[in-house]
Amino acid sequence: MTRKQNFNNKFEPKKCWVGDTHKICYDTKEEAEVAAKVAEYDHAAKDLTVYKCEFGDHWHLSSKPKADRS
Ligand SMILES: [Zn+2]
Repeated sequence: MTRKQNFNNKFEPKKCWVGDTHKICYDTKEEAEVAAKVAEYDHAAKDLTVYKCEFGDHWHLSSKPKADRS
C-alpha cells in the first residue's frame, strides 16, 4: 500500500504519446470513466471509450467507438 499521494499544489496529469496524440493517463479505470463523464458533460463528447494503455500501467480515453459493437 504505497500509493502516491499528491502533496504538491500543482497537479500535472501524466501523459503519453499514442500515435500522434498526446493523451492524458489515468491511474485507474474508474478515474478514466469519471473523466469521460466530465468530458461528455463539458465538451459534449460522445462515445468515449476507456481502454488500458499498451505502453504503461494506466488508462486512456478514446473518442473512437468500438468497431465490434453495432
Ligand atoms: Zn499511455
